[in-house]
Amino acid sequence: MPELPEVETVRLGLEQNILGKKISKVEVFHPRATNPKSIAPLDSLTGSKIISVNRRGKFLWLELNRSEVLLAHLGMSGQFKVSERNAKIEKHMRVRISLNTKAFEVRFIDQRTFGWLSVDQSSAGIPNSVEHIALDIFDPKFNRKEVKANFLQRKTEIKRALLNQEIMSGVGNIYADESLWLAKIHPERACSELTDFELELLLNSVAEVMGAALKVGGTSFDEQYKNVNGESGYFDIELCAYGQDGEPCSRCGSEIRRIAFANRSSHFCPKCQVNRRPKKRKV
Ligand SMILES: [Zn+2]
Repeated sequence: MPELPEVETVRLGLEQNILGKKISKVEVFHPRATNPKSIAPLDSLTGSKIISVNRRGKFLWLELNRSEVLLAHLGMSGQFKVSERNAKIEKHMRVRISLNTKAFEVRFIDQRTFGWLSVDQSSAGIPNSVEHIALDIFDPKFNRKEVKANFLQRKTEIKRALLNQEIMSGVGNIYADESLWLAKIHPERACSELTDFELELLLNSVAEVMGAALKVGGTSFDEQYKNVNGESGYFDIELCAYGQDGEPCSRCGSEIRRIAFANRSSHFCPKCQVNRRPKKRKV
């Protein structure tokens, strides 16, 4: 599933290609490709000029020269592809956005159809449907102190809180497992029991893990698309925990374990990530 680094890579790729272009036609080929909350049909945006390509967490949107935006979520397997207009049509193309250029068009391809586009109203530059989404760790306005305090208040496990897009956005299952492994925190630790030091370490780990993925992904937009298979992440990053069950932990050699988590799984090292609060040192 695309997480922040993948979505940011898509954003950069779109930005490099479509800024200043005008939308000349929007064709929808699957009913689920338009979000039911869309305030108007996608083709109502015909004629508008693309001012900027924005992202918050895993949401992407095109700011236009009108108050509506074109909002998108990639879901499980959605991709935006900048294609030559005469390029072969992909089997799972759900939406085609034609622009005022003969050179290329934008295609939304989505095998599993959990992704969608919508027309949304925006205020102060943020689409209404995205207002409840928290800032991500790379946002200049991201407030570590507030986010840590928010984590501490939650009566839930840290993995669940990490995935909560209203505390901090952009982290999905893969980068949650990787960040918790790097910070040596068990996914089922209670949020309220984490120390400030551990939370600090966790936020550093989130930034490090997603930053590394961004570096790999941000360089070659087209190349990345060839790597997309809808199941794994987009990038050839070295995973230390996610999907590594049965493999030795690259830090201590213990076998990485997998446990059930919310219809999915958590992967962790039972030796590096112990499910209890670290003992206070005796003074
Ligand atoms: Zn280990």
